Amino acid sequence: MERLKMFINGEWVESSNGEAIDVKNPSSGEVIASIPCGTKEDVSSAVEAAKKAFHDEEWRKVNPHERGDLLFAIADKLKANRDELAKLETIDVGKPLAQGYADVDAAIRYFRFYGGAADKVMGDTIPIEDGLIDYVVREPVGVTAHIIPWNYPIQIISRSVAAAIAMGNTVVVKSAEDTPMTANKLTEYFAELGLPNGVFNHITGYGFEAGAALSGHPSVNHVTFTGSVQTGVAVAQAATANVVPVTLELGGKSPNIVFADCDVEKTVDGVVRAIIQNAGQTCSAGSRLLIEESFKDEFLGKVVNRFKSLEVNAGIEDKDIGPILNEKQFNRVMEFVELAKAEGQIVTGGNRVHVDGYEGGYYLEPTIIDGVSPESKLAQEEIFGPVLTVFTFKDTKEALELANSTEYGLVTGIWTKDINRAHYLASRIDAGQVFVNNYGAGGGVQMPFGGYRKSGFGREKGWIALYNYTVVKNVAIKYGD
Ligand code: NAD
Repeated sequence: MERLKMFINGEWVESSNGEAIDVKNPSSGEVIASIPCGTKEDVSSAVEAAKKAFHDEEWRKVNPHERGDLLFAIADKLKANRDELAKLETIDVGKPLAQGYADVDAAIRYFRFYGGAADKVMGDTIPIEDGLIDYVVREPVGVTAHIIPWNYPIQIISRSVAAAIAMGNTVVVKSAEDTPMTANKLTEYFAELGLPNGVFNHITGYGFEAGAALSGHPSVNHVTFTGSVQTGVAVAQAATANVVPVTLELGGKSPNIVFADCDVEKTVDGVVRAIIQNAGQTCSAGSRLLIEESFKDEFLGKVVNRFKSLEVNAGIEDKDIGPILNEKQFNRVMEFVELAKAEGQIVTGGNRVHVDGYEGGYYLEPTIIDGVSPESKLAQEEIFGPVLTVFTFKDTKEALELANSTEYGLVTGIWTKDINRAHYLASRIDAGQVFVNNYGAGGGVQMPFGGYRKSGFGREKGWIALYNYTVVKNVAIKYGD
């Protein structure tokens, strides 16, 4: 069993209290590693090291294009270790191996995208009057904190850390206590770069301890958080006390809206993929299926057939669906399944699956729920499992009302050949991303991603995310007599 360490101020360290947390493989329940249980003191050491590194001339003198080169070097290391990393992500998170590869590939693309952007974020000059030059520069914010959820660790760390380093900030990452393995590898790659001490720091440990200390630390200048709404609110409150901006990527209850004129086979495929990816433990999972009423029997029948053909197995076996993260998450999902039995019907699935050789994992049949009201918890709350809830609509107006009827607003899929309808809905849907006749557009490294309402605020991914990690300064210079 591997004993991992944290990385603070250029050194690999244990927790200051010597305590450790076991890390399990969700597919089998086996303990695969242990991580230091980072304390408030450890967080303070990391943040102070990052603050010192930010203000030291050494890091400041690394030019933008050189920061880009550093990020390209990380991309190269990720690529060189692609097989190992994909396997590690699969063992750590439980997702099928092909999804582990997809996540590593996305991480590589984030480092390349933001590496290329490092010397291309420009300022402005503003015409005011003769004898006055006014210009606007975007400077780095300072110490940036990155609090990571367990479901897509390598992707989510990469997207925000690459953007922050590109803009010249220093970084403290708090990885998820359940899935720290690829974060540890990425830390190794950063350690090998020979950056000035304190530019990149990685804390492991519990959210209530290390995460809370990081989000409330007075020397942090920006917090990027991805996780649940409840924790996001706590993080925002802690940061607000220090007048520190936050970027929040929270949950979703994203709909796929299916009209009778859609391309049926492609739509079935898109709808199924949108909910089974990472066993439904995806913030942007398409967890609500809204079908045009007249088309329901035909379309739902095809989705049910596809669900019945899906294979559930350990991540490393690379079938369609892996395990739920752990017993606690599984029990939470099963509470929703029991509620569905009371309020509506289980169309297919709903039972635990016992996988030979992986008895310690918590697996669930892909599940479809029908017959519940749009006000039900099943329609409103994130289930975070391979569970799809079905509704019908009569016309575009009702489809729109249903789509916008939750507190979330992360992603929406629209499936129709009617371009007018697609544009109209895209303009009226409250979601940070709208996909027409696709869902996800191949991972979306370049596309702004984030939520309306309780799905969060601020945007990650794409060019726009670079601005999270800059602060605007205006300089006005008077010249002449
Ligand atoms: P979580 O909120 O429990 O934990 C996220 C991170 O916050 C972890 O690192 C955790 O240790 C830390 N944390 C916990 N309590 C904290 C506190 N009081 N202060 C500071 N940090 C704390 O979420 P999770 O269970 O890891 O992830 C699942 C949730 O994340 C789902 O709701 C999902 O929708 C959401 N999510 C959103 C996105 C997105 O981009 N919108 C991506 C992935 C996951």
